[in-house]
Amino acid sequence: MSNLDKRTLSIVTFIDALGWEVLKGRSFMEEELPHRRPLRSVFGFSSACVPSILTGRQPQEHGHWSFFYKSRGPSPFRGLRWLRHLPRRITDRGRVRSQISKRLKKKLGFKGYFQLYNIPFQHIDRFDYCEKKDLFKAGGINQGNSIFDRLDNAGVDYHVSDWRSGEPENISSLLGAIKQDSIRFAFLYMADMDALLHQVGKNSDRVDEKLRWYEHRLRELLDCAGQHYDEVRLFVCSDHGMATVHTHVDVMAQIESLPLEFGKDYLATYDSTMARFWFDAPEAEAQVRRTLSNIPQGRVLSRDELEALGCAFAGDQYGELIFLVDAGTIILPSHMGTAPITGMHGYHPDHADSDAALLSNVPPLTDPRGIADVFHLMAAEAGA
Ligand SMILES: [Zn+2]
Repeated sequence: MSNLDKRTLSIVTFIDALGWEVLKGRSFMEEELPHRRPLRSVFGFSSACVPSILTGRQPQEHGHWSFFYKSRGPSPFRGLRWLRHLPRRITDRGRVRSQISKRLKKKLGFKGYFQLYNIPFQHIDRFDYCEKKDLFKAGGINQGNSIFDRLDNAGVDYHVSDWRSGEPENISSLLGAIKQDSIRFAFLYMADMDALLHQVGKNSDRVDEKLRWYEHRLRELLDCAGQHYDEVRLFVCSDHGMATVHTHVDVMAQIESLPLEFGKDYLATYDSTMARFWFDAPEAEAQVRRTLSNIPQGRVLSRDELEALGCAFAGDQYGELIFLVDAGTIILPSHMGTAPITGMHGYHPDHADSDAALLSNVPPLTDPRGIADVFHLMAAEAGA
């Protein structure tokens, strides 16, 4: 057989939150995937990291960061103002919010991941949402192209998981595509590790159990692909790691005790690891800064630092002031949730627990150092 006839399949398996430090001290496919390296993550949550993996760019370039930001035009949520009249004991319930999120997503035609989380309905019409499109389809990125635009334009036959489906379903659908013998590249999406790590933390035995599960499934995948292709190039990558939570800090209560009115003097979004502010009154900014400077578990990020992190957005889209807590601390309550949690990410990328991982059965064609470099690796693997 000549080299030209050699049939190759490259599979990139994305496992959400499979951090370098999560893998440390554990065994996971050392034999099959001997090429292993940490990848520096991107500052932000998966909503920022995944677009970086798919585009090769920093958040300030692709335009995806935290889900909610201050609306500049008419808010897509302006029709939700009436919800403020419902009693909070109803609207604060997770299940109620999930139901409303589901219906709203359909009504607004959002194609990406959408959850209202704990955003106050009282002020929801002041916010906009960053993931309106399906990230895993061509045209899904706010600014610029993704690997899927690239693959489509190059006419590459590929398979990509439906991110709405569960892991077993995503694996069987990839196996089905492999058996058709037509693809040369695949992106397999696995999200359950993230949820598990949030719930039990990286030191739990249940993480080992879950790794065994992935190991079995990926071995089956390698076996099946090996029967259909001459060469199978398998990569496992992640977007970030997971830190163990040891401290809660109530930033919201401290800000709300100031003589300032939310929605009038300022607007804020409290993510699990950052508080983001927009100001309408200059004296509001001074008061908020003073309050934040007295919280020892976090600090305000300077413009220079945000720029170095690739998160200095045009027009301060995601906040005029960003307060970040130290790894292991969470802001509680936040607009993301009110229940304590064991693991969290979304800290400074310098922290070891933020590191993602890249494992493969062949040396990478490129030299990936950060998660955005996975894009170039995928483009090289797909010949796009
Ligand atoms: Zn997560």
